[in-house]
Amino acid sequence: MTYATQPEASHFVNGAYLEDKNGPPIEVIYPATGAVIATLHEATPEVIEQAISGAQAAQVDWAKLSGMEKGRVLRRAADIMRDRNHDLSVLETYDTGKPLQETLVADATSGADALEYFGSVAAGLTGEHIPLPGGDWAYTIREPLGVCVGLGAWNYPTQIACWKAAPALACGNAMVFKPSETTPLSALKLAEILIEAGAPAGLFNVVQGAGTVGAPLVTDPRVAKVSLTGSVPTGRKVYASAAEGMKHVTMELGGKSPLIIFDDASLEDAVGGAILGNFYSSGQVCSNGTRVFVQRGLKEAFLTRLAERTQQAVIGDPLDEATNFGPMVSEGQLQIVLNYIEAGKADGARLISGGHRIDGAGCWIEPTIFADVTDDMTIAREEIFGPVLSVLDFDDEAEVIARANATEYGLSAGVYTRDVQRGHRVIEQLQAGSCFLNSYNDAPVEVPFGGVKASGVGRENSKAAIEHYSQLKSVFVRMGETEAPF
Ligand code: NDP
Repeated sequence: MTYATQPEASHFVNGAYLEDKNGPPIEVIYPATGAVIATLHEATPEVIEQAISGAQAAQVDWAKLSGMEKGRVLRRAADIMRDRNHDLSVLETYDTGKPLQETLVADATSGADALEYFGSVAAGLTGEHIPLPGGDWAYTIREPLGVCVGLGAWNYPTQIACWKAAPALACGNAMVFKPSETTPLSALKLAEILIEAGAPAGLFNVVQGAGTVGAPLVTDPRVAKVSLTGSVPTGRKVYASAAEGMKHVTMELGGKSPLIIFDDASLEDAVGGAILGNFYSSGQVCSNGTRVFVQRGLKEAFLTRLAERTQQAVIGDPLDEATNFGPMVSEGQLQIVLNYIEAGKADGARLISGGHRIDGAGCWIEPTIFADVTDDMTIAREEIFGPVLSVLDFDDEAEVIARANATEYGLSAGVYTRDVQRGHRVIEQLQAGSCFLNSYNDAPVEVPFGGVKASGVGRENSKAAIEHYSQLKSVFVRMGETEAPF
């Protein structure tokens, strides 16, 4: 291996790399080959203490800077990230297995977008003046929350770290971030870059470890807010534990999102949307449209074209820029997906394409398509988080809306139709936080992102995120005398 994947140390605390070999080892595996590419150590209680106390100290002075000054640091960090996009993308590919073709355009670049966006809005973060009767008035002060904790999933390690750090820091907070133990490398690079861009030591810290390291971060009384990207079961635990301390939360959780394709849709676009919403990042995307409802008149043409285009996937070395379909992130996730494929077969779904592990080293599985899937089947009800696309048939609009909403999840939803009125009418009735019309899985930083129902609480990205990383102090000003009853 020529590319250096072993970081200087496991953690980044108080502006520098920090090692404590007393923490149990974490082996980082390149999922394409199964090779160990780095060995890190879980954070010990001493490391966690240094990270939280360092963040608490750094936050006080950071909050005193003007929005312009804070924003300048974030925008500089965005520029550095873009300059290093190639190296950061290679590292992300080693960490996750995602093809370089994807990581070059979707990971450090989207992280840089978040840093640039929130760097730009920082200067405009103000309270407001509220006139009141009799010449009295009030004003609000937008204040930071304090120390925020970020907990990341393994599918978009760089993006998740930036989506949490950028709005948190723009609002004057400090952050302790714990990446998934499966993909611990990229967040360390963000910490390095922020220091280079002028952030004070301690403002953004990275500590490694599994849920056992995340849990004490969530319960620490010095922590004001917890932002998690992860599964619904973890979300339930973390939300409950944060509630004990009455902390602010953002929960970006899983989904089982519907993608509804009407007879009048452009076939090529609809097939493209289904591929993007099921096979990009080998299906390891929370907002994926994994329940593909196809109106009966288009069904056979859709299945034929979907199978044809799926055959064209270039499966191979993720570092080869021609590859557009990589491995699963880990052996554990691969086994979960294989079990779901078996469940699909056992429940009577018709396997159209794929369905098998790919022989050889690494965590490879074929892009898999099931047809004739019904609402009660396990593969139509549970989040798989892998490249398994289920096609369900439907006849009319009211029916498909009811079936699309019949899930505990509500992260995303998509509609393909050439009838603009129908498109908007259907989307208005879908229970989902992020919807797509004749498209799927776009996530520009300017647009709020998040779920309803069990898929989450709060929003990331856009101006909406500011509300989740700041609080308002109201100040009432009496211009006349104070009138008391006695
Ligand atoms: P997990 O829910 O297993 O973990 C998420 C993070 O929380 C990890 O860093 C994990 O550590 C940590 N964690 C686990 N238990 C606790 C705990 N008790 N206290 C504090 N932290 C804890 O998710 P995955 O990493 O498996 O990611 C896949 C899931 O993430 C999918 O369900 C997917 O839908 C969801 N997701 C949601 C997105 C969204 O924006 N809505 C985006 C991407 C993914 P560790 O894993 O190291 O043990």
